[in-house]
Amino acid sequence: VSFGYAEVSPEEKTQKVGEVFARVARRYDIMNDAMSAGMHRLWKDRFVARVKPREGEAILDMAGGTGDIAFRMAKRGAAVTVSDINPSMLGVGQDRAAKKGIEGLAWSEQNAEILSFADRSFDAYTIAFGIRNVTDIPAALSEAHRVLKRGGRFFCLEFSTTLWPGFADIYDVYSHKVVPKLGKLIADDEESYRYLIESIRRFPGMDRFKAMIGEAGFVQAKAEPILGGLVAIHSGWKI
Ligand code: SAM
Repeated sequence: VSFGYAEVSPEEKTQKVGEVFARVARRYDIMNDAMSAGMHRLWKDRFVARVKPREGEAILDMAGGTGDIAFRMAKRGAAVTVSDINPSMLGVGQDRAAKKGIEGLAWSEQNAEILSFADRSFDAYTIAFGIRNVTDIPAALSEAHRVLKRGGRFFCLEFSTTLWPGFADIYDVYSHKVVPKLGKLIADDEESYRYLIESIRRFPGMDRFKAMIGEAGFVQAKAEPILGGLVAIHSGWKI
């Protein structure tokens, strides 16, 4: 298992990912805006439009962090449970929800690989910019499948691999040179942002990840590229 450039045990990776998000929690939102030039907001809007949350639907927002996806879905009337392995991220999320006056969210500390929820609990499962941080991705996908009801939908928003050649080169320089410096400037934490970029590079390509969703038992697995695949929305259906 890899962590940044280092090979570590699965337990160490999970622990180190925990340390990264505990360190960046307070600066997480401002860094997202800085690193993506505000574009993450558009990607998240598009993702939630794709999920189409319905009034009263039970949705699990896994690796929900500081609540960006959950808030958008709660505004459309869904009953959202925000889950994350990291209590610091959830704490920042709860403060933000209070400030924005968003009510009715449930918050639950969970590891995506081993959920404490009963089988067939949710109508939809969302995970945005979270799955690449999970140590055992097949385990997380199979847990997503388990906790979904029949007819339940799985949606994942994640960085992927852009197929636009010139763009890929620019992005490569940007991510390896600019992002860690932004991390240093804004959060005084170059190392954490180096890890985040490296985790994007190592994440399976669009088609491979789509196949993994099928292997976890979902049908109609799909990958929808955004910006040539820089970001992708993957989805699947439990029958
Ligand atoms: N979904 C939010 C968003 O789009 O802004 C947060 C994304 S943040 C980049 C990734 C989140 O994944 C962090 O909050 C981190 O704590 C969480 N995470 C990492 N490994 C996890 C795991 N095994 N189970 C649950 N959450 C995990």
